[in-house]
Amino acid sequence: MKASVNQRLQGELDQFRRDGVYKVLNYLDSPQDARVRMEGRGEIIILSSNNYLGLSAVPEVIEAGKQALDRYGAGTASVRFICGTFTIHRELEAALAGFVGTEASLSYVSCWNANEGLSATLLGPDDIVISDELNHASIIDSIRLAKSISKCRSVVYKHSDMSDLQEKLQSARDARTRVVFTDGIFSMEGDVAKLADILELARKHDAIVTVDDSHATGVLGATGRGTAEHAGVTGEVDIITSTLGKALGGAAGGFTASSEALCDYLTQRSRPQLFSNALPCTVAGSALAAVRYLEQHPERVTQLHESARYFRGRLTELGFKPLEGDTPIVPVILGETAKAIQMSNMLLDEGVFVTGFGYPVVPKGQARVRCQISAAHTRDDLDEALAAFQKAGKKLGLI
Ligand SMILES: *Cc1c(COP(=O)(O)O)cnc(C)c1O
Repeated sequence: MKASVNQRLQGELDQFRRDGVYKVLNYLDSPQDARVRMEGRGEIIILSSNNYLGLSAVPEVIEAGKQALDRYGAGTASVRFICGTFTIHRELEAALAGFVGTEASLSYVSCWNANEGLSATLLGPDDIVISDELNHASIIDSIRLAKSISKCRSVVYKHSDMSDLQEKLQSARDARTRVVFTDGIFSMEGDVAKLADILELARKHDAIVTVDDSHATGVLGATGRGTAEHAGVTGEVDIITSTLGKALGGAAGGFTASSEALCDYLTQRSRPQLFSNALPCTVAGSALAAVRYLEQHPERVTQLHESARYFRGRLTELGFKPLEGDTPIVPVILGETAKAIQMSNMLLDEGVFVTGFGYPVVPKGQARVRCQISAAHTRDDLDEALAAFQKAGKKLGLI
């Protein structure tokens, strides 16, 4: 690399360090689970993973990946439409569609790709996306890409603000297709989209609704089918995108679930489908086993919700003020970024890993530690983590 470029990057990296936003990577040396071996630190309780149901360490899920490796080999070595579609993709896609309640689904190597492949393919110059202001970066980038590739329009509505959404829908009445795009669970706040209201408004204004359910698949609803199940509107959402990299085994991969027509159209035209390899079969095998496991073990979802309620309640009793909500994402607002980082470091010294988030990931003055509960956590794990919170919170004068 040219020295001047390295120098520029090094200068910026130094600034990240001075600003306290430089990310130090933590290496795990064990499966993702309630407790992990983190390099140089022994055993740590993880309160920051997206492994909401603990499925990434379930023997059936691991075994299914191994079997797929033996049966289909190490790689797909092709994009889907040439010769990269394997029987396991079809099985997985049928299972996912059945699970989330749509006619069909199409897998991608990530939900990032699923989102990126969706907007630019579905929308044209006469269409508009109406997007929640707190939507995930992959939705925002998907819309940016669609605006540049297919010249669609976009507008942002205030977070979960239904009267603003209504206004935006009204002012978009000249568009051919109106798409409301929202996260199911918003990952930084841990709150849930007002999906029933969004659907009602969308129907009234002849719009379609896309929900990115990445944090909600396997998590929300009595049997983990996501935000639609939680809101009592299963089968009514036009398009669901989601990840296989969180509750459903946690490996990687994503999917778009919708009508046969849309999934077929994406197969024909979506650029990540056409120009990037198919989902690895090992990952498809594990994800399929994760869906099957979840269908047979809805009690994992119940356990997750019970643990999240317990943790939130005990934190509040200790004097912390976690954001209210009924998801396993439990953010504790601490104010300044430095405080969130300090809290996170002190918790790690006590054997508990919780990430601190500051500006620009969250607004200034709202830095936080974000806890994520998993069905893998036992009551002992949670109590040990709570004891660490109490100790660190007292030291920092927070409680
Ligand atoms: C995590 C997440 C993604 C990215 O998922 P990948 O499959 O890892 O690309 C996309 N959207 C939302 C809302 C997410 O939370």
